Amino acid sequence: MRSFFAILIAKLAGFLSRKFKQGGGTTLPGLIAEKIDPNIISKLTSKIPDGAIVITGTNGKTTTAKMLAAIMAQSGHEVIYNFAGSNLSRGVASILIQHSNVFGRVRGNVAIFEVDEATMPEIASKMTPKFVLVTNLFRDQLDRYGELDKTAKIIGQALRLMPRAKVVLNADDPLVASLSSYNENVVYYGFEDKFTTKSKGAIDSKDCISCGHELVYNPRYFGHLGKYKCSNCEFARPVPAYVLSDLKPAVENSGAIFCNANKEKKEIRIQIPGIYNLYNALAAASLASELSIGPAVIAHALENVTAAFGRMEKIKMIDHDFFLLLVKNPTGFTQALETLTFDRRPKNLLFALNDNYADGTDISWIWDAEVEIISDLANVVVASGMRGEDMLLRLKYGNFNTAKITLEKNLEKALDLALSEVPIGETLYVLPTYTAMLEIRRILHERGLVKGFME
Ligand SMILES: [Zn+2]
Repeated sequence: MRSFFAILIAKLAGFLSRKFKQGGGTTLPGLIAEKIDPNIISKLTSKIPDGAIVITGTNGKTTTAKMLAAIMAQSGHEVIYNFAGSNLSRGVASILIQHSNVFGRVRGNVAIFEVDEATMPEIASKMTPKFVLVTNLFRDQLDRYGELDKTAKIIGQALRLMPRAKVVLNADDPLVASLSSYNENVVYYGFEDKFTTKSKGAIDSKDCISCGHELVYNPRYFGHLGKYKCSNCEFARPVPAYVLSDLKPAVENSGAIFCNANKEKKEIRIQIPGIYNLYNALAAASLASELSIGPAVIAHALENVTAAFGRMEKIKMIDHDFFLLLVKNPTGFTQALETLTFDRRPKNLLFALNDNYADGTDISWIWDAEVEIISDLANVVVASGMRGEDMLLRLKYGNFNTAKITLEKNLEKALDLALSEVPIGETLYVLPTYTAMLEIRRILHERGLVKGFME
């Protein structure tokens, strides 16, 4: 009875919130439902026939979830998935309410939840997913050095609470791989390639988890991801069951060869750029394979996946192409820029740095991003956002030609300025922090260039 009222009132609240406010309301129903019935998540997930899949980690959660949802839909599943981008418990509750009727019947046979690292213990106390996938652990803009181990511990303790969940881990991230000490029901995925990054890399996790000695990489793909072993003890990268090789990362279409645990190989192609999106594709393909989905279905579905909201999203304009590349931490920023260097044509760049809470109020992380790697390709460069001056300063120290950088803090003006300078037929690459991305999308929405601007 309690869940009946919880769902009913939450649905009503969601309806009213949508009616009176445009957009939004993605977490309110869940918040209310959990207040009325604290067990609502566990009650509703237990009714999903093929169970729940939880995806966590610093970077790539949204894209991996989107890719996995596409593969599962392709193979005939009816997927429930929190694409609304609320990774907290109330977001999970909201999406379940949205897919349930008041009698607690859930529409859909499998659920994919993207969950923030810090929310994992709470989720573990509320449901037992069939699978948990951990993408990677990087220093986020809100963290300080050294807190990454703490994040790993939080996820590890959550995994310990879910002994029946199968855990899918990135073998190439030493901290992620070490999570097997909390839950032995593990399968790994990783790259098997000679690719190495151009970036020197803010290596967030360079010491052995067992003994503290330095890890030796050969090769290092990017950040602290690669094939590593300890210089002192036995700790080494585990052998992955699922492998991606022959990597061909590109700005617009990347390709690689996927090999599943049965050694069946299949070429995959993805529309979204960069080496880290190949990691996301591999993560999604590995989990799908665990659900007995064949490589041909996986390849076909991945080919049609477009970028998640604001993440390497391509928008067509009349005179220009427009790429939106959300940046939120040093590694992500560096990798976004490095992706743009895969072809050597000059690049038109608009950087938009805000320091609202959702962006991270401490913007010092931009000094750990290697903006230098694209300085020799820079053509039009505009620094914008609430902290446009700081961005300008970072670019100055990053070997950019100062005379070519324009500072315009107002985002709409910065956008028009950049577009007026970009040669016709060329692409403008916009690299915004989170709230700047929302604002740019709102501007594009008002101009009829994109459909929605709320996540
Ligand atoms: Zn060691």
